[in-house]
Amino acid sequence: MIKPLKTLQQNIRFAGECLQLVKHAPYYLIFKTTHYCWYKCPHCCEKAGPDQEKTYIPQETIFEILNQAKQDPLFINEVVFTGGEIFSSYKFGDKKYIPNLLNFAIQNNIGVDIKTNAGWVNTSFGQEIFKDLRKVITDNAPKEYRLPKIQISLSLDKYHTNCFENNLKFIQELAGLPVMINMASFVGQEPMVQEFEHQLKSKFKTKELISLDSNEHLLSINEKMLFQHSFANLFDGGRASKNPEAKHIQYPQFAFVQPNRGKLLKLVAFDNFGRVTLGENSGRKIMTPYLDENRQLKLLPKIMQDLNKSAFKEALYFVYYERIWNPIPTR
Ligand code: SF4
Repeated sequence: MIKPLKTLQQNIRFAGECLQLVKHAPYYLIFKTTHYCWYKCPHCCEKAGPDQEKTYIPQETIFEILNQAKQDPLFINEVVFTGGEIFSSYKFGDKKYIPNLLNFAIQNNIGVDIKTNAGWVNTSFGQEIFKDLRKVITDNAPKEYRLPKIQISLSLDKYHTNCFENNLKFIQELAGLPVMINMASFVGQEPMVQEFEHQLKSKFKTKELISLDSNEHLLSINEKMLFQHSFANLFDGGRASKNPEAKHIQYPQFAFVQPNRGKLLKLVAFDNFGRVTLGENSGRKIMTPYLDENRQLKLLPKIMQDLNKSAFKEALYFVYYERIWNPIPTR
């Protein structure tokens, strides 16, 4: 049913408020450095896989974006490096790519999270990766008692091939080094993570820690390595759109931005197709290219301005769509 004009005006005001929030919200950066992956998981929100090109966002592009972000007071000095499978760069790309990215970020006081499916731990180049990770972690170890500067996120769920064994091997290779391991899983798969922690406790010297945040559970492995877990919902982006277990997101991502939800933190994600998006990888995209017509990197303020324009367009789409099909609740 079409809603009356008064409500339409309220909806447009709502869109304007959302835009202001997006414009002024602090943000962190994500680099989806490649779409190549040796797996083709049915829940992958990136459509990553072995059929994708074995190419990576050039490190110079990433350095330049991080340098510009450092000048922006809204950047919270946190970056995530992911893929596809970023560690495939050891097989197909530049073997210095990952150490260079990690060292650059840390030396610029930017907190790093790097994600991997750990599918490479038993390959011919696996030991080379562990050697480099040990060096980067040790070289950048906190001088005093502080949280580790590097987080490595692993995946533990029923979709990733051999993830239980691969993750145990991964932790075994780095145990005792000052690094944070985040074990990412999905809501509903808690028993698998509990069993994994049980095995960690039986294999390693572990200690339960009082967490900084009461929602977090932390384990210390061989004194220095910290281990935590996190559970996300599975959304129907990318290949997961065909996965019946994925939660359907019908609305644009802008629906996540609610003025009454208080503090908002933006996620700004650059991918290897030359696109930058705001928000989660599901629903309609708030998106703009980060290269100009000459394939040159745009300046970051211009990219953010274009993203804001895209956000406003999506906000209008959202309220228009809502007006016809599904009224948003009045605040
Ligand atoms: S979910 Fe991860 S491991 Fe699976 S295909 Fe996607 S990028 Fe690769």
